[in-house]
Order: sequence, then structure tokens, then C-alpha cells
Amino acid sequence: MITRDSYRQIELYAPDRSPCATDLSDNTNLWGVPPQAAQALRDAGASAVTRYPSLYASQLKEALAERAGVTANMVVTGCGSDDVLDSAIRAFTEPGDRVAVPDPSFAMIPIFARMNGLEPVLVPLSGGTALDADAMLATAARVIYLCTPNNPTGNLLDANDVARVVRDAPGLVIIDEAYIDFAGGDARDLLNSSDRLLICRTMSKAYGLAGLRVGYALGAPELVAEVEKSRGPYKVNSLAERAALAALREDEAWVRAHVAEAMTNRQRLGDELRARALAPLPSAANFLLLPVSDAVGVASRLRARGVAVRPFVDLPSIGDALRISVGPWEMMQAFLDAFDEATCS
Ligand code: PMP
Repeated sequence: MITRDSYRQIELYAPDRSPCATDLSDNTNLWGVPPQAAQALRDAGASAVTRYPSLYASQLKEALAERAGVTANMVVTGCGSDDVLDSAIRAFTEPGDRVAVPDPSFAMIPIFARMNGLEPVLVPLSGGTALDADAMLATAARVIYLCTPNNPTGNLLDANDVARVVRDAPGLVIIDEAYIDFAGGDARDLLNSSDRLLICRTMSKAYGLAGLRVGYALGAPELVAEVEKSRGPYKVNSLAERAALAALREDEAWVRAHVAEAMTNRQRLGDELRARALAPLPSAANFLLLPVSDAVGVASRLRARGVAVRPFVDLPSIGDALRISVGPWEMMQAFLDAFDEATCS
């Protein structure tokens, strides 16, 4: 075989995404496309298809910078935040270096580490959810990845622990804020004190543009320039840039309204589950993690009833669990009805 030895242990990331009437499996915006972004797609002319996009999405960088209160040279974009994360990990490491990742956290990070010839080091979250700053720092990894609110647990990491990791880490620290819009607060203040910090964000969740693949990161200009090199040109396509610009400039009220509704429904869904003597983890994201026994079995019985959720098996200190995206209440009710049927013995 001509395959790379180091790729043999990498599995294709391929969760079950077969069509399902109520898909609560990937934490996207279940209310739909922001209206002005949809309009921008309809208005795009032929040149948005026949011409190359801008090299590094300069207009989008400016709009994102304005929204984040930073300068445009502190923003790097990518084809989804997946692309930004992958590029950032690659930009600051040599093959064989270590990447520290809390466990559980975003499943793609260990895969990106291996794809770049790096060694992922999994560091269990204390009690299943809390950042163990000492253990993360003890890895002396070139890259430390943190995710807050954390996927799949949903909780925010303690801000003091995060600040300590940023202060004492020997290399790059990535704070993944994919779900920060549903939480309130963020880590931008830390950018003033660290030139080794990247805050990674996405327009796939609150902004409803997952299919267009727009992600970005904020960081010191020298840092961002390295990520941009590693990312390469033309990664944000013209249609994606137009729709993202429209969403940032004209859809803020739509986004805020649906974030608020997601937070209300998150609370209501949690109450419904607690009323069934279940114990969903406290969440600051647009999903809930619900410990259950036999998550794979329950998920497949839910799927047979038209509802998709993401099962997790044997998470440290948590055990089996289902991750359920929060959306419009009709979808939450469809989940609850299917769940009651799927779990009645
Ligand atoms: N970070 C986290 C924590 C995520 O959950 C996801 C998507 N599941 C991503 C990054 C990637 O998002 P995207 O590539 O769509 O921006």
C-alpha cells in the first residue's frame, strides 16, 4: 500500500447523517437561514460563480473585526472553523509535537492533530466537565485546545482556569467559542494580555450558515498571519462571503431573537427532562447532554421514530449520553414524544 503509516490509525469522521424528519444531531440553527443572507444568495450574479473569490476574504474580515471590536489584521477566516482549527494546529507545530485536548471535547481535534503528524494528548475534564488547568499545562503541549461552552458537555469552562492556561502555556492556546453566542461573555479580554491566543468562532451555529462553511479566529496580527499562510488562499467561497457579510450587517436582530428563543427552549427542555427524573447537564450552548444508559440503542430507537440525536458512549465520569440540539419547540416536543416511546419499557 502507498498509504501513510500515520494515517492508518485515523478514521474517517462519518457520523450518521442520513436524512431524518427532525434532525437534532449537529447543533446548527434549526430556525433556518437569516433572511438577508438568503437574499444575498438569491442576488448573487454569475461572477460570484465564474470568478475566484478574494484571496483571504478581506471584506468579511473587516466585518468580523468590527463586530468583535478588533482590527481586521487580527482576524483569519476559513472554510468553516474546522479549517481554521486545522490550519492553526499545523501552523505552530512540527511533526511529532503534542496537542492537548480535554476529554470529552470536540471530536475533530484529535483527528486534525493526527492528520498533521501530531500526537493528541487527551486530558480528562475533572468530574466530566471542569477544566483541569494543571493537567493541561503539565502536558507541555505545543498547542492547548479548549472549548467553551464545551462540546459535547455544554458547560462553560471556569474563566480563571482558562486565563491561567493562557498565561502559563508554553505554546499556542486555542479557545473554541463555536457556541459562545448562546452563553454570554467571551474570552476577548485575554487577547490584550496574550500574543499566543487564538479565539476560534463559526457562523455555522447561531448564524445559521453551516452549509456555506464560514469560520474565523481572532488573535494577535503576527499569529493570525501564520494561520493564514497555513490555511492558504480562496478558502471562503464567493457565495459564502456574500451571505456572511449580509448576515453580519443586516441580520443581527434575527440572530439575537433566535439565540434568545434557543436559550428559552433549552431551559424548557431541561425542565421537561428533569420532570422525567433525568439529569441533563447544565448547558450554556444550543444543545443538552443527557446521560442515559445504552445511548446507541436509544438513539437508534429515536431515529426509527424520525428523530436524530448524537449518541456518546462511555464519556469519562459521565458514561453514555445523548447530545440533543435545541431548536423550535415543535421539534423539542417531537423529541420528547419519540423519547418517551423509545424509553418506555
Ligand atoms: N468547534 C466546535 C466545538 C464544534 O462543535 C464545531 C461543529 N460541530 C466546529 C468547531 C466546527 O464548525 P464549523 O466547521 O462548521 O465552523
